[in-house]
Amino acid sequence: MDSVLRLALEDRRQQQLYRQRQVIHSSQQPERMLGHQPVLSFCSNDYLGLAADPRVADAMIEGTQRYGVGSGASHLTAGHTDAHHQLELELAAFTGRERALLFSSGYMANLGVMTALAGRRDAVFHDRLNHASLLDGALLSGARFRRFPHLDTTSLERMLQTSQSQRRLVVTDGVFSMDGDQADLGALAALCQTHQAWLVVDDAHGFGVLGAQGGGSAAVSGLMPEALPVLVGTLGKAFGTAGAFVAGSEALIETLIQFSRSYIYTTGLPPAVAEATRTSLALVQTEDWRRQHLQQLIQHFRQSCTAAGMCLLPSETAIQPLLIGCAGKAVRISEQLLSQGLLVTAIRPPTVPAGSARLRVTLTATHTIEQVDRLVSGLKQVMESHDVAH
Ligand SMILES: *Cc1c(COP(=O)(O)O)cnc(C)c1O
Repeated sequence: MDSVLRLALEDRRQQQLYRQRQVIHSSQQPERMLGHQPVLSFCSNDYLGLAADPRVADAMIEGTQRYGVGSGASHLTAGHTDAHHQLELELAAFTGRERALLFSSGYMANLGVMTALAGRRDAVFHDRLNHASLLDGALLSGARFRRFPHLDTTSLERMLQTSQSQRRLVVTDGVFSMDGDQADLGALAALCQTHQAWLVVDDAHGFGVLGAQGGGSAAVSGLMPEALPVLVGTLGKAFGTAGAFVAGSEALIETLIQFSRSYIYTTGLPPAVAEATRTSLALVQTEDWRRQHLQQLIQHFRQSCTAAGMCLLPSETAIQPLLIGCAGKAVRISEQLLSQGLLVTAIRPPTVPAGSARLRVTLTATHTIEQVDRLVSGLKQVMESHDVAH
């Protein structure tokens, strides 16, 4: 076995696509220890800086003292505690939906949604840049699988016009995880209404970050719940904890409880994580300064990069990628930044399309303007040495 596996691994390496983990020796804060090296990190999805917030940590400790560590069973057997239940009620209120359902991760939530809502007679229509978990869920569902070019609602409309399938699901990220740009939910909802399709929005990078009180892409869109019937959110990003949720109607949530195998056949999230998330949800809604500061950093980063002649993708969110193209070059740039104490990960295929390797900068509410300035001057220096600045 190993000799066969090593061949495939070597092939990966040759293509500059080999992945390695970096061992972090501290919490999710901008200044971290990478082994013995202090680094300034720009690769966390902890957008609001809540992952290491002492109040969230205290809630987790109290939750652990009350419930212990493991939930001990799946939600449908005996693993569904009042901590989970309260959090679901609070998430339903937060999203303005009838119900919400917790999943152990966003990956599992998306598998659960796609497989419970679509089957062999149905069709799913995906934005080409949707998150891998949505694509995997669609494949697993056995539904007819169509992908439309990124953000291209005209192509989607043509596909919907000719579709004969029973159920039609249109699936999109709210904020695209590797590009930072956003779906036009108004246009998608209108198409879905015309063609009687169901819109599924995965807002992993929007919840907490966008909109008043962090209501995400759905809140920003101003659309009614009926127009956005299936919302997926993850708790490991802006909420700073772990897990995920689906929010929607009573019928949707009951359907997921009955038919989502990734909900049914797995151990419930530790109750203390639910307790910690209840605290972080309150902070997400009340501490608006986190979003305001993050917005300032985003504007400052974009202005400084543009002034330095660097080319950014059109993103207004905390995800600010710099397109490099070649995977090997992206890795070398990331390594050079690291030698300056700047941690910015290179994102390569298959996470992004071939030829579109990039540096994925993420900003968080815990960064300072000075730290962003350090990043921009490091980037400018390294990019110029590679002649990719212009
Ligand atoms: C991170 C992410 C997920 C997966 O969520 P996890 O809780 O990390 O499994 C799903 N969808 C999108 C768009 C994501 O960015």
